[in-house]
Amino acid sequence: MSKTAFENAMLQLDKAVKIMNLDNGIYKQLQQPERLLTVAIPVKMDNGEMKIFTGYRSQFNNALGPYKGGIRYHSNVSEDEVKALSFWMMVKCATVNIPMGGGKGGIIVNPKELSENELEKLSRGYIQKIWRDIGSDKDVPAPDVYTTPVIMGWMRDEYEKLVGHSDPGVITGKNLENGGSEVRSYSTAQGGVYMVEQLAKKMNWVPNKTIIAIQGYGNAGSHMAKILHSLGFKIVAVSDSQGGVYNEDGLDPVKAENIKKDGGILGCYCSGSVCIIEDVTGIGPCRKITNEELLELPVDILVPAALENQITIDNVKNIKAKAIVELANGPTTPEADEILKEKGIVVVPDVLANAGGVTVSYFEWDQNVKGEHWSEKEVLEKLEKIMIKAFDEVWETKEKYGIDMRTAAFVKAIERVEEKML
Ligand code: NAD
Repeated sequence: MSKTAFENAMLQLDKAVKIMNLDNGIYKQLQQPERLLTVAIPVKMDNGEMKIFTGYRSQFNNALGPYKGGIRYHSNVSEDEVKALSFWMMVKCATVNIPMGGGKGGIIVNPKELSENELEKLSRGYIQKIWRDIGSDKDVPAPDVYTTPVIMGWMRDEYEKLVGHSDPGVITGKNLENGGSEVRSYSTAQGGVYMVEQLAKKMNWVPNKTIIAIQGYGNAGSHMAKILHSLGFKIVAVSDSQGGVYNEDGLDPVKAENIKKDGGILGCYCSGSVCIIEDVTGIGPCRKITNEELLELPVDILVPAALENQITIDNVKNIKAKAIVELANGPTTPEADEILKEKGIVVVPDVLANAGGVTVSYFEWDQNVKGEHWSEKEVLEKLEKIMIKAFDEVWETKEKYGIDMRTAAFVKAIERVEEKML
């Protein structure tokens, strides 16, 4: 039977612990969240029926600062999942060395089945159950899968009504006019781009000869494709849930996306004029590919930016990329990780590669607490500095111990947490 997300997280912890000399008491404390809330949220649906939804908030560890982590609305949300995600948030914040701890929340719900009115009641109802345990100095939630800046706005409003004072830093990922930060919409991708640039330098790759495939064309993947393309990197393949396109001569992600807007799928284009993918299949270098094929393309850098568990024991032997930059959370299973290391494929792990998102969330919190608003330029400069420093530290640790970058990030992160806990 395949392992649960939390079991996988604990395997990763154990791997790092073998390298470092972690205090045994702290090791035991890092095997469970400090607090795990389970709440029942009653919502009167539009048809008058009362439904009870189950919600969670896992507060894993706050040694470095207030707990920080998103709230997920999904039918697969579970206690195991929020525990794992809150543990990874702890590692992520500590890897990039921001003063935040690890938290995560979620509600078991398919939000697509709810009206806007029901969604607002559910979001406010969740805060009514957890408000005593959150706050800008305690625990700072944020958006995650299927939660949006508008939902964050409802939650901030409900929290402030309950505590009776303004506290914009209680939640991040808000709209700009509601105290949000510049760059938030593309922060995860931008952080990932800095990681690609650092990796390319280490490998002596120049942008126009660095070939990249990106799986997933949502917030993370689409911004990543566009920014890398604008910097001169050669994007040869992009995909979404319906499949992808591959052009070994290089794609323009904006053009591929424009075709999706017209025809529903990411597409190839003929030189000079846009044509849907079926028209060009077979007559040009551009062709339709499946997500499975995309993962196995002969590229320099593969960027999984969609779902977890994409590179597994079943396909890892076919991976031809020289490096992987994990924009998605958990795209590689621990078993596949071992084989990638044996094959000499460098993996820039999720806890580092997609940490741009939480870093800009931290900036939002910092601005809110200080009553400031930073310009886009200021945010980008601060983000770049933090991401490059973290990359260099993880690379150094990897070289020092002869380990993979994921284990190196964990070693670095757990050392920081331990130092504060001792
Ligand atoms: P999103 O919902 O905006 O986009 C997801 C994309 O994946 C969509 O293009 C969808 O079509 C595609 N997709 C779905 N199923 C697929 C499949 N089977 N094969 C290929 N593509 C598929 O989500 P997002 O915010 O871009 O997040 C993507 C990943 O990045 C997730 O793992 C998320 O946890 C991680 N992440 C995102 C952020 C952020 O700020 N958005 C921050 C940290 C980590």
